Amino acid sequence: MATKSKQKIKPLRLAKAWSYSPAPESASIAQIKDQYELFINGKWQKPKRGAYLDSINPANEKKLYRAAIAESEDVEKAVSAARTAYDKYWKKMPAAERGKYIFRIARLMQEQARELSVMETLDGGKPIRESRDFDIPMACNHFFYYAGWADKLDYAFSNRKAKSLGVAAQITPWNFPLLMAAWKIAPALATGNTIVLKPAETTSLTTLKLASIIEEADLPAGVVNIITGAGPTGSALVRHGGINKIAFTGSTAVGKLIQQETAGTHKKLTLELGGKAANIIFSDAPIDQAVEGVVNGIFFNQGHVCCAGSRLYVQESIAAVFIQKLKDRMATLLVGDPMDKNTDIGAINSAAQLEKINYYIRLGKKEGALHYQSDALLPKKGFYCRPTLFTKVAQSSRLAQEEIFGPVLAILTFRTEDEVIEKANNTPYGLSAGVWTDKGSRIFNMSRRLKAGVVWANSYNLFDPASPFGGYKESGYGREGGWHGLLPYVTF
Ligand code: NAP
Ligand code: MG
Repeated sequence: MATKSKQKIKPLRLAKAWSYSPAPESASIAQIKDQYELFINGKWQKPKRGAYLDSINPANEKKLYRAAIAESEDVEKAVSAARTAYDKYWKKMPAAERGKYIFRIARLMQEQARELSVMETLDGGKPIRESRDFDIPMACNHFFYYAGWADKLDYAFSNRKAKSLGVAAQITPWNFPLLMAAWKIAPALATGNTIVLKPAETTSLTTLKLASIIEEADLPAGVVNIITGAGPTGSALVRHGGINKIAFTGSTAVGKLIQQETAGTHKKLTLELGGKAANIIFSDAPIDQAVEGVVNGIFFNQGHVCCAGSRLYVQESIAAVFIQKLKDRMATLLVGDPMDKNTDIGAINSAAQLEKINYYIRLGKKEGALHYQSDALLPKKGFYCRPTLFTKVAQSSRLAQEEIFGPVLAILTFRTEDEVIEKANNTPYGLSAGVWTDKGSRIFNMSRRLKAGVVWANSYNLFDPASPFGGYKESGYGREGGWHGLLPYVTF
């Protein structure tokens, strides 16, 4: 007689029943220049040594624009512009006036939301549905939210008077370029700091567009400076003696370097780093919603999310049914042109990132896990990866421990609550987690014991500007968003 775990579950194979006509967003709405300079002291300035780097569209590998490489002389100029602007205007400006500037930026971003969405998708490869419905509106909301805090700082910290720090150096990654810039710029401005920001080299476009919006908003020259370039530009910024604060979002490896670099200095530091989130499904969970939550957590946005639910823990009694339902849903996911409004999984951000993902897929097979991939058709040009899962994954395997940053899900099973908490907490990271269950008391118990900055219950990847976000352990420290997001930018 077949045991329960060997039971055959019939696949549904819904995919073949559905096909959509192409529904591409128009690229022509985005006015992309061939070349972008550095935005320093309110002017577009050529880099001192005249070097530029190309950014491509990862969906078709075509060059999109080139951006200046800021070297140490340019970093010097940007930091000194930010210092002058801080001393001359920004720290003296009444808080309510600062707030008006931030509101103005938010409104201009809203007005240009469609162009920003198209730019984000062309430059980074994420589906237009995601840039249009999540990245850009959420970036605008962060400016609106922190604009409201500017003149209320005296009420934010009871019996304490908050003072700004001075010049903030901010470094952002490629997965949510505009949103990460908003997370950093909006609270820094609201608290009265000036800024030098460096976006990631593969996705500088929307941050450069934000610089023109800031120009249009008529912010005093030098309050926000945007410098482009690769790792060495970021490193020169971090090492500069004239900055008071560093806000970094990126990999744990670079975060550790920055921590070493700033040890023993006066610089205040916040780090938002990698993750390996556990999405935990109990047998009493609403199964179909949980399947959708898992898909949203790891496959949408190509798994290019620091809080991606990349480890799935399913309670043993429902594992076979759940995994089959998940495979059925994976078969319906459309991989392809990120500009198509039907696309679920767009392009992987770069050739190097695709190689990293494929390395982990090969590694998972070598480690003895069982591999499953949907049979989605992929475009011939560009960097793409089918949604992938592994079952029979060992807790100690690299597949279950390391951040892949791609649409690759490691599935493990558990029997009891204590067991899954121990397993979920057993990685170097602690950024986020998901719990799916019908029991409220279990949600409270789990969210108390899971070492994760965010725990979503019967949902996944929900954000709000008023809600803080950040990690435990090697996922970094400090919080962005909400009242907590003001703290890294003030002193008392
Ligand atoms: P990354 O390689 O660490 O790069 C992040 C930023 O740092 C980029 O602007 C990068 O420039 C710059 N950089 C590189 N080397 C540097 C150095 N030595 N000193 C200073 N800056 C340096 O990370 P990524 O690959 O872009 O982003 C993916 C990572 O970000 C993932 O690990 C993900 O989990 C994490 N992430 C975390 C959060 C969060 O809130 N916790 C949010 C989003 C992403 P170039 O790109 O030009 O090299
Ligand atoms: Mg690009």
